[in-house]
Amino acid sequence: MVEFSFSARLAFGESRCYFFRMTGSPPTGAGTLNLLDLTPASARAVLVDWVAERELPSYRAGQMHRRLWQAPVESWEQATELPTALRTELGARFPLPRLIPDTVQQSSDGTRKYLWRLEDGEAIESVLIPSGSRRTLCISSQAGCALRCSFCATGRMGFRRNLTPFEIAGQIREVVLADPEEKPSNIVFMGMGEPLLNWPAVDAALSILNHPEGFGIGARHITVSTVGILPGMAEFAKRPEQFRLAISLHAPTSEQRLSMMPIEKKYDLASVLKAAEAFRKRITFEYVMIEGFNDSDADASQLAKLARRAGALVNILPLHPGGAPELTPTPLSRIGTFSERLRNQGVEAVVRRSRGLDINAACGQLRVEVEKKRRERKNVSGERNGVSGEGKAPGDVSTHTSSPALRLRSGQAPRGIV
Ligand code: SAH
Repeated sequence: MVEFSFSARLAFGESRCYFFRMTGSPPTGAGTLNLLDLTPASARAVLVDWVAERELPSYRAGQMHRRLWQAPVESWEQATELPTALRTELGARFPLPRLIPDTVQQSSDGTRKYLWRLEDGEAIESVLIPSGSRRTLCISSQAGCALRCSFCATGRMGFRRNLTPFEIAGQIREVVLADPEEKPSNIVFMGMGEPLLNWPAVDAALSILNHPEGFGIGARHITVSTVGILPGMAEFAKRPEQFRLAISLHAPTSEQRLSMMPIEKKYDLASVLKAAEAFRKRITFEYVMIEGFNDSDADASQLAKLARRAGALVNILPLHPGGAPELTPTPLSRIGTFSERLRNQGVEAVVRRSRGLDINAACGQLRVEVEKKRRERKNVSGERNGVSGEGKAPGDVSTHTSSPALRLRSGQAPRGIV
């Protein structure tokens, strides 16, 4: 069995925040294959061959396959329907790597934010947003992001690396492992990174999410959000499923867009809108509202024109203040007038309620925040000449102690709880 050792930190206040640091890693190496990186169809083919080579009954392949995504296990040890010797052999050949929760924050509005630590020390974020019977999980496709949109916290940290299919789909797998009742009903690729700049891994992850032998989440409940990477849009349009496309438009003219989104230089607004025509399904425009920047009546009329032409729904995002301290969010009353203007001009517009405002829920903010605090703690302990600087960090918010996601496994008593 894979052993991890953790150091954990718990800060008390109006809320709690959990920090776990991974110091061990799963045994992935020569002679092993990560089935979780494959599409369900490929993983099944590998298992069918493996079972046949061992002259095992063929139904064993199906039993093993179910344990990847449909009824996932933390390790093969838990697949008790399989003989012990077989579980040991599976563990040696097909280890099941994990994403380790580094920090989990629970907002007072039910939103939960995860910072996952990856095998190489990179960190990525996911946000679980419950709303009625829906549980939307916002997932990351890259560690960091190369696009540097002016309002986005992830853009500020720059690009680190692409995620693998396992690291993308693993964000859902971990939520299900912690509590199968919390399986997300909807997925949006609106976490860290630009999904269409990591198309091969996103392509495979989409199959894992949607396939009946994967997580079985309906394609219409899976949305890929992009600034408009043209080659990626062309690939995505080829998929026959009803996946949804959201375009981060954010400005109704190329000039305005260029001042917020450097990618406009490479893939301009007109070309992105043209590429969107290849989608037979309803698309969404995302529009983050920044005061004095893109929120005038003229902006609304110009946006309405574009949306009508594309048959797009407009999703208005109030600027999350954590992403760009120097920008001012458009006041709610102005957002109301703006969206009303869109509707009066025949466009369906929804204002997305800001969720998790108390937990740094905008893309990239949690990682930035956690790394800043760790640096500060390091400095403080350095100044104190080796005395630990751990204590209540400002901004650690929100509380939820009972989530299975937060439970330490037996024998893994947290050290350093303060
Ligand atoms: N790269 C992709 C997906 C990641 S961002 C894209 O740009 O679409 C997901 C959405 O969150 C995008 O629409 C992005 O513009 C928006 N976003 C980023 N920072 C934000 C902030 N501070 N406030 C509100 N929305 C933000």
